[in-house]
Amino acid sequence: MPYKHICAFCGREIEPGTGKMYVMSDGRVFYFCSSKCQKNMLKLHRVPRKVRWTEAYRKEKKIRLHLLERREHEAKNTGSAKA
Ligand SMILES: [Zn+2]
Repeated sequence: MPYKHICAFCGREIEPGTGKMYVMSDGRVFYFCSSKCQKNMLKLHRVPRKVRWTEAYRKEKKIRLHLLERREHEAKNTGSAKA
């Protein structure tokens, strides 16, 4: 049964029969959905968290927004309690 892998860079599911499995000389294994993802990771040394079209960026952004909202909420609550 074909197993679906997740792209090491963009975080999307890779369709069985497509993509590339890349094994580093130190034994680490990366699955890439496209040459775009492979180049961004191995050639351009980009961090998935900082590239806007990746799943990691969306996750990070969501967490940051959530934290910001919580801080604002707390600030408002403390502000109203004092006033
Ligand atoms: Zn990808």
